[in-house]
Parts: sequence; structure tokens; C-alpha cells
Amino acid sequence: MTEIKQSILTKVIAKRKSNTHKGNYGRILLIGGSENYGGAIIMAAEGALKSGAGLVSVACHSINLNALHARDPEVMYVDWRSSDLPQLIKNMDVIVCGPGLGATPFAQKLLLQLGQVVTNQQTLILDASALDLIGQNRSLAPQNAKLVILTPHQMEWQRLSQIRIPYQTDAANLTALNKLFPGQNAILVLKSNHTKVYTSNKDVFVNPLGNPGMACGGMGDTLAGIIGGFTAQFGGNIDSVIAAVYLHSLAGDLIAKDEYVVQPTKISALLPKLMLKFV
Ligand code: AMP
Ligand code: MG
Repeated sequence: MTEIKQSILTKVIAKRKSNTHKGNYGRILLIGGSENYGGAIIMAAEGALKSGAGLVSVACHSINLNALHARDPEVMYVDWRSSDLPQLIKNMDVIVCGPGLGATPFAQKLLLQLGQVVTNQQTLILDASALDLIGQNRSLAPQNAKLVILTPHQMEWQRLSQIRIPYQTDAANLTALNKLFPGQNAILVLKSNHTKVYTSNKDVFVNPLGNPGMACGGMGDTLAGIIGGFTAQFGGNIDSVIAAVYLHSLAGDLIAKDEYVVQPTKISALLPKLMLKFV
């Protein structure tokens, strides 16, 4: 097991070259945000936006459009019922599915559709209810992406892998990951007070940062967005993922020096300044 070091940030975060444009920093689509959970997809989108993704789009329930644009006018929107969605998915570098999605029959259809159109050029990040839906029906696990990243907390991982929390050992987690995505390039980000990151090649990383002020709703949605932003800009690979995990907690620790609880949106707000320290 390898502890994630701060040097990963200087390794991954690149200085932007002058002759570049938004297309060079990745196109990302975030799918989620049902009628009752709009905040989750907005926080995830903000994580992607503030970590520097070139073009950020959200597919969600239409009720969330005004809130999304009032807060983040940079983010593009599509109604998640739109017939344009499959084509839009095809145009993406990275797709995040799950924040505020809900485990409904409609969400199941969306996940099925996603699995049918995703290609081996794309990175797919699955979070929250997307993981629960796969737990209920394993045939929903998309098998065609270049890289699949799962971001469950321990309870979500228990429901998905059938491994109860006390038995979530490294060996058991690695076996379960490879069983869910056989022969695929997959990464498991198992969130807890010391988040662990597992690869299908059997590498294990542990995040030394983070604090209990971060134990609040929206924290994981923000992380999923930051992982999306990093993989969109810096490539779909393990370094981008562990750098995003580390940066999320580093921001959380900086905020916790002055504040009792860490508001997830404050983590995103801190990213543009914080990232500049590591170029
Ligand atoms: P979620 O449960 O999906 O909102 O994700 C929670 C996020 O907050 C993960 O990134 C966790 O690692 C982080 N987190 C929650 N509680 C703690 C804690 N006690 N110490 C450090 N990080 C935490
Ligand atoms: Mg979550």
C-alpha cells in the first residue's frame, strides 16, 4: 500500500500553454440531479468546473435548470429526458453518473443507455445511486469504457460488492472490483476518513489527509466532480484520480483550520487558487 504524497499534485497539475483552448481541457458530462436532489449534481458540476475542466455539461431533471444556471452559468444543460442525450454522451471525454440520480426505474434506463453508448475512448465515473442500481442488477455495469472509476462510501460499497464493512479488506476489495469489471481498466475510490484507492492492476493507495469537518452531505458529490475535472484535463489514469482525492482533502483541511464544518462548495471555491500553487 502506498500513501498518496503531495508531490502527486505537482506531477499531475500542468501549467497551461498559451496556444490552447477549452477543447484541450476536456469535455465532461455529469448525469444526475433528480427532482429532489438537484444540489448533488450542482455540487458535482462545480467540482468539475472549478478544477478546470474545459467544457462542463449537466444532464438532469429540468426543475434544476434555474438553480444550476443561477449558480454556475458556465455549465451547459440538457434535459435528461432529451433524445439528444445519447449523441451528447458520445461527444464527451468524461462522464460522471450518479450524484442525485436516484435509484428509480427512469435512472435505471439512463444507466442502461449510458452503458450502450460509452466507448473505449471515454472515462466513466460512477457514484451514489448509479452504484446502487448496479448492485441491484449487475448487468447494468458498463463494460466498454477506457476507464471506469467507482466512488462509493463504505455503505455503498457494501451494497454493491456484498462485502460487509468490517470485511472490506484490500484483498476482498480488489477481488470484488475485478469481478464487477472483468478484464477492464477499473479504479475503486473507497471513501472513508482514510479513503483508499484500488486499481484493477492491484495497486492500493491511501489518502493521509481529510478531517471530520468534511463529514457532511455533498462532500462526495464534490469529489466525483473533481475526479471528473482532473481526468478530463490530465488524462484518464490513476495519477489523475489520486491527485484529485488528495487535493479535495487538502482543501478540506485548509478550510478546517478556521471553520468547524467544511462546506463542500467552499472546497470547490478554493480550487483555482490552490491548484496554482502546484503548477
Ligand atoms: P459521501 O459520503 O459520498 O458524501 O462522501 C464523503 C466524502 O467526505 C468522502 O470524500 C470522504 O472521504 C470525506 N469524509 C467524510 N467523513 C470524513 C472524515 N471523518 N474524515 C475525512 N474525510 C471524510
Ligand atoms: Mg455520495
